[in-house]
Amino acid sequence: MKKKAAARAGGKKAARPRAPGSIARSVRAVLAAVGEDPRRDGLLKTPDRVERAFRFLTRGYQENIDALLTSAMFDVDYDEMVVVKDIEVASLCEHHLLPFFGRAHVAYIPKGKVIGLSKIPRLVDAFARRLQVQERMTVQIAHALQDSLHPGGVGVVIEAMHLCMIMRGVEKQHSVAVTSCMLGAFREQSQTREEFLGLIRKKHDGLQ
Ligand SMILES: [Zn+2]
Repeated sequence: MKKKAAARAGGKKAARPRAPGSIARSVRAVLAAVGEDPRRDGLLKTPDRVERAFRFLTRGYQENIDALLTSAMFDVDYDEMVVVKDIEVASLCEHHLLPFFGRAHVAYIPKGKVIGLSKIPRLVDAFARRLQVQERMTVQIAHALQDSLHPGGVGVVIEAMHLCMIMRGVEKQHSVAVTSCMLGAFREQSQTREEFLGLIRKKHDGLQ
């Protein structure tokens, strides 16, 4: 998928969730399929809990990204890099429905407009609370900022550990996947990119 198309996949269109109870019914079938007894005490309420958890973990589909960003946009005469780093991020991998989690670092260079700093973690959440692949989420966050603020450039780096790798023993237990999306000045000027990467490396060593 091309980057632009990827950025929009699942981006602005609100998904229509199915009727309440449909996830719980499916979870009951999964419990039976793995050889469990869905009627035993410990599992009785599990389907409903899983349904509530999944509704919460996928509510990013209902977020209006445009409204989120434009609600706190200000005209400001500031053209230095804005960096919000170490944003905790947790999402569900769309291939295994298992969590991946870590940190996101987001930067942009304003061109007349800035966005309220608290909106950046919310933007990250809006894309993280969906079924995701880390690469696409990285691109979506960058393009959402680019498309709404039209800044001089955007840089997004995400470092995450994937339970589908750890629990299935696919990779070394503590390997971290790093993805990045650099737009505008962050792509074209190595000095800008290095400044960003230097800032997110400071006082920050892996996921400890
Ligand atoms: Zn996976």
